[in-house]
Amino acid sequence: MVGRPNVGKSTLFNRLTGTRRSIVGDEPGITRDRIYGEVEWDGKTARLVDTGGIVPDDEALIPSEIYRQAKVGIEEAQAIVMVVDGRTELAAPDLELARILLRSGKPLFLAVNKIDTEALDAGAENFRQLGIHNLIAISAEHGHNIGDLLDEVFAVL
Ligand code: GDP
Ligand code: MG
Repeated sequence: MVGRPNVGKSTLFNRLTGTRRSIVGDEPGITRDRIYGEVEWDGKTARLVDTGGIVPDDEALIPSEIYRQAKVGIEEAQAIVMVVDGRTELAAPDLELARILLRSGKPLFLAVNKIDTEALDAGAENFRQLGIHNLIAISAEHGHNIGDLLDEVFAVL
């Protein structure tokens, strides 16, 4: 699981693994290290990695951190879930990260998070521009479409 700080990766991690092991907060970059958890779905178990490590308020570090996370995702994972905040505008770092992940050739899924209500669906559609075919609008906080995301990811494991 990769994505910019504050998009909801840790919230999704906690929901998928059923634990509180990943720290959630309003402060971007609150996840300092990678955290591993297990997800069970449809009789299968997968290891989920929550990535992070960016220093809060240090904008200069954002590009290199994105590269680092992408590299970890590409090297370790059987499948990659890129998480974005569907309530924000699509930004250059999202495009950059998507480009790197698409180049890896690994199964790639885009979880457009924070789509808490149907009214926000249109915002999620903007993220089609990232060129990631498998797009799922979710709400990690409310649990919307999490089953669909798991169905799609586990299908390639
Ligand atoms: P991370 O930095 O990507 O790990 O993001 P976090 O999981 O720490 O979440 C950052 C903030 O977004 C927190 O305040 C979360 O409560 C909030 N958040 C996460 N998922 C959702 C969601 O589905 N809907 C809404 N409205 N907020 C969310
Ligand atoms: Mg986090």
